[in-house]
Amino acid sequence: MRYFLTEEQQMIVDICRQIAEERVIPQRAEMDEKEIFPTDILKEIGKSDLLRLFLPEEFGGMGTGIFEVCLAAEELARGDLGVATSYAASGLGFLPILISGSRQQKEKYLPPLASGEKLAAFGLTESEAGSDVGAIRTTAALDGGYYVLNGTKQWISNGGEADIYTIFAMTNPRKGARGASVFIVEKGTEGFSFGKKENKMGMRSSATRELIFTDCKIPKENIISREGMGFIIAMKTFDKSRPAVGAQAVGIAQAALEEALSYSKIRKQFGATISSFQAIQHMLADMATSIEAARSLVYYTAKVIDSGEKNISRLSAMSKLFASDIAMEVTTNAVQILGGYGYMKEYPVEKMMRDAKITQIYEGTNQIQRNIIALDLIKRGAL
Ligand SMILES: Cc1cc2nc3c(=O)[nH]c(=O)nc-3n(C[C@H](O)[C@H](O)[C@H](O)COP(=O)(O)OP(=O)(O)OC[C@H]3O[C@@H](n4cnc5c(N)ncnc54)[C@H](O)[C@@H]3O)c2cc1C
Repeated sequence: MRYFLTEEQQMIVDICRQIAEERVIPQRAEMDEKEIFPTDILKEIGKSDLLRLFLPEEFGGMGTGIFEVCLAAEELARGDLGVATSYAASGLGFLPILISGSRQQKEKYLPPLASGEKLAAFGLTESEAGSDVGAIRTTAALDGGYYVLNGTKQWISNGGEADIYTIFAMTNPRKGARGASVFIVEKGTEGFSFGKKENKMGMRSSATRELIFTDCKIPKENIISREGMGFIIAMKTFDKSRPAVGAQAVGIAQAALEEALSYSKIRKQFGATISSFQAIQHMLADMATSIEAARSLVYYTAKVIDSGEKNISRLSAMSKLFASDIAMEVTTNAVQILGGYGYMKEYPVEKMMRDAKITQIYEGTNQIQRNIIALDLIKRGAL
């Protein structure tokens, strides 16, 4: 399918596809089995300037938009979701700096993230604060020229691997969500350590880890914006990052369709290839149609965001919700088309089905996306 991409956009797709074909796909089963973090592949992604896509030229970026990030995320996820998530999680980590950071913070932290020399991570979730982000218990207390952080973050993508972390903590716990603030914390800061590394169902090449803060002193100027702005910055970040989760979902679904289609043309039962059975043909047709619908919504959302439109929460939530539900459905149907072989690890579709599930959960579960969409409908009307 063509989306009238510019030469530069097509080049982004081609580079990502080449990395996926040559570097990711040959290794993905092993990375999944042994939970290998794709350090070398991410270095190559950095060298190919793909981390620059997120950022303005003045901070070492290419000045492109969310649309280009979505193109890259889709192609990388077509190879392996763990690689695509490690890539996108760095963007998620530095978005709070990009959206609300000071000029000095941007000049200091963004260029090494743009070049891929460093990776970022986003630390919001805690054991008692998942969907209910206002329930975070990590605290940041002002003490002279420092904030002192105490608490534990859970399930942080790129945890342990990233160099720069944006961490949400309560500066005024009595105010609930309005008492949250966000800070930049560098790896190696005294009092900042890494805890349990998770053993996950899918997306196993990505690192998901606890971050532990014990009397961790960070300079006062590492606060992003000002006290109390944490929740607003988190929501603004998700508005911009969710289409990339939708794009990842489209990428996995596309990969599953490709596997199911090629298998259906070689597998014979009852003396005929299974692609000659109408039941299989209709599944393939529905899978392809759903993927195209999801891709269109993701691309449209990204273009609306890049146009500078302010009210983007509804569309952003819709693109993540729809594409991730499609990815779950399509990958499950791909396993069905491969039958018993689909259930075996010698074919990649069972991994795609395991991987797809997380796109319905992280960056806000799909129930939360439906809440966002419904509240926006009620507040601003149906159009
Ligand atoms: C592999 C992985 C990587 C992650 N990476 C990061 C990361 O990099 N940074 C980070 O900060 N977090 C990260 N997370 C956390 C992720 O964003 C949360 O898991 C997610 O927001 C859901 O929170 P929870 O798991 O605590 O579920 P809960 O909030 O406990 O929800 C449990 C169930 O209840 C439903 N539910 C909850 N509240 C409502 C409601 N109001 N209405 C309707 N249904 C509701 C949910 O939809 C879900 O089905 C990651 C999680 C995973 C699993």
